[in-house]
Amino acid sequence: MAERTETESRKLLGRLRRALAEDGAGQERLDKIVELIASSMNTEVCSIYLFRDPETLELCATQGLDPESVHQTRMRLGEGLVGRTARTREVVNTADAPSSKGFRYMPETGEERYSSFCGVPIQRLGESLGVIVVQSKEARKFTTDEVYALEVVAMVLAEMTELGAFIGEGAALSARHQNPVMFKGSIAQEGASAGQVYLHEPRVVVTNPIADDPDTELERLRGAVDQLRMTVDEMLSDQKTASADQKQVFEAYRMFANSRSWMRRMESDVENGLSAEAAVEKEQSLARTRLGQSNDAYMRERLHDLDDLSNRLLRILTGQGSDTGAEMPPHPILVARNIGPGELMDYGKKIKGIVLEEGSVGSHATIVARAWAIPLVINAKGITTEALNGDTVLVDGEQGIVHLRPDDTVQTAFSDKIAMQTRAQERYASIRDLPAQTKCGTVVSLQMNAGLIADLPSLEGSGAEGVGLFRTELQFLIRSQMPRRAELSALYARVLRAAGGKRVVFRTLDIGSDKVLTYMKPNDEPNPAMGWRAIRVGLDKPGVLRMQLQALVRAANGGPLSVMFPFITLRSEFRAAKSELDKVLARERRLGNPLPSALDVGAMLETPSLGFAPQSFFDEVDFISVGGNDLKQFFYAADRENERVRRRYDTLNVGFLAFLEQVVQRCEISDTPLSFCGEDAGRPVEALCFAAIGFRSLSMRPASVGPVKHLLRRVDLAEVKAVIDKSRADGDQSVRGAVMTWLQGQV
Ligand code: PEP
Ligand code: MG
Repeated sequence: MAERTETESRKLLGRLRRALAEDGAGQERLDKIVELIASSMNTEVCSIYLFRDPETLELCATQGLDPESVHQTRMRLGEGLVGRTARTREVVNTADAPSSKGFRYMPETGEERYSSFCGVPIQRLGESLGVIVVQSKEARKFTTDEVYALEVVAMVLAEMTELGAFIGEGAALSARHQNPVMFKGSIAQEGASAGQVYLHEPRVVVTNPIADDPDTELERLRGAVDQLRMTVDEMLSDQKTASADQKQVFEAYRMFANSRSWMRRMESDVENGLSAEAAVEKEQSLARTRLGQSNDAYMRERLHDLDDLSNRLLRILTGQGSDTGAEMPPHPILVARNIGPGELMDYGKKIKGIVLEEGSVGSHATIVARAWAIPLVINAKGITTEALNGDTVLVDGEQGIVHLRPDDTVQTAFSDKIAMQTRAQERYASIRDLPAQTKCGTVVSLQMNAGLIADLPSLEGSGAEGVGLFRTELQFLIRSQMPRRAELSALYARVLRAAGGKRVVFRTLDIGSDKVLTYMKPNDEPNPAMGWRAIRVGLDKPGVLRMQLQALVRAANGGPLSVMFPFITLRSEFRAAKSELDKVLARERRLGNPLPSALDVGAMLETPSLGFAPQSFFDEVDFISVGGNDLKQFFYAADRENERVRRRYDTLNVGFLAFLEQVVQRCEISDTPLSFCGEDAGRPVEALCFAAIGFRSLSMRPASVGPVKHLLRRVDLAEVKAVIDKSRADGDQSVRGAVMTWLQGQV
């Protein structure tokens, strides 16, 4: 039986291919197809319904129903058996249609009382385009093989509709890819940007859904799968140093790539007349549909793997690399499932905005986007399936919202927002060369955070006085092997040159936690943020620390140098790190190399314990910089990467402020310069409060310097301090409310 129908469906596809090869306008072709299917399947009726808009289906072609009703008959999603097929995206197959749930008699179609009904959804990559239906008077349930044949035809149809091959005037297809869609994601980098979609890995376009010769096609499929398996094996062997989690992911990939049932299903589709590409896509479509329906996160991830593998396989088959030659639009907004920092850097700053389906606030790509101040929204679920190259897209990085193909009202509102942003930028530019001097005359030094050479040009434009935090690990993260000392030294020298004499505070390697170097032995830790990271690694592997310090000393080439050790928890750690630096200096002296003309050695205060260190620590250290991102996560015991817990705790909570104030006082006793370099330093209200409790140096993203300076210049710090004190005296848990109210009264 199966044998017979396999030949049947192949025959049907063969006829379909011939019909499609003939010339003809869209509607004519559509008519030909329904006629062909009805005759091949021995049914009185075959009809194609396509989406007019996401809620409405329209009869677009029929064999057997009243031809007058074509483009007239419409039904809502879920209405009747056709609507039910479209809504559930599942086959409806019944021998007794009139007594089936949801049956609706449509007299306008001249519909007789057909007993049998079989509706199959037409979908492409999980996206619903319409329904193909066969009906017959004879009360019979269609066999599994007949349904299969219809599914294959629906698949071919989906490809054709996608190509717009037979869209007749008025025969509107699915409104998807045309309608406005809004995505609510998470904020990763603020800023508003309008432009056109530029897909990082565009969808592979399948142009040949039906194969000429199943045998050749099978060979192509098998060859491509072999190649895919090899790539996956290579991926695995490249991951010798991967963590257990990463390995699990790759193993899952391997399992899927070697899955017999996956292969069998695709082979059987090819044997039935589909091209290798169409067979892969059919499986992918199924995975996507299930992906959308599964509530189980683990299941969703696995389906994602399958989806990814299908994409890789399609690229092998079609020879379409990730670069399909799509021209970059004038204001490209990069849309991707995820992207690595290296890939993002390849695109460079010409990208005006980024929207990712996945991603995380702490990911390296995010760090790069932030350094370049490119608005970035992450967790925009479904955007890669919805967006097409060239679609208009608005990225609202302030609210984590993305508008795809926005309507006029949204576009206008957005333009207003951008105009406001531009005006604000102009305001900031006008005070760029002025000091951040408050109304009471206090000057706060504003510095910028950096991590790449590419960040340095912002030093000039932002109005920052120097680089308060240079995260050196970025250079290590974006490479596949440990950089050499000479390379690093040349790089640091370039950084110093680019800073043009302004101070740059180099923070030594802060790896571990979420920053994993692929080329270092993985360290399986249950709690990496509190694990073997930063200076702990540096002290246990002094060779790497000394190599980096040497590169820094050589880069300074006899000029001034500022070095800061991350994640210092105890005075003894600072002393140990400093003694490594002393060893390096002694060696350089022995070698006759120039030593820095002035050397500042600081510590990052990122754990509460350091705030309670003996006072001698504050005497010994040349400066302290509060790493508020880490400090806050340990102060509140709330993971900085976990949005769910992170948001609960306010920086302006009286407890946290009291802690910071105590650090300020201890630094004052020892006359130790103190700065704040976590993300909060770049938030104007937070920055204002830090200044009010005594911080005189803040280091932030370049884009934040303007807004912070603008606010600082308009206030009297003594007044702010009075507001904070009153709020505390009133017993507030956070001073934010009081400070905000006061600020509103100022404008
Ligand atoms: C911090 O923890 O506040 C900090 C500046 O360091 P990083 O964000 O690189 O951990
Ligand atoms: Mg930190």
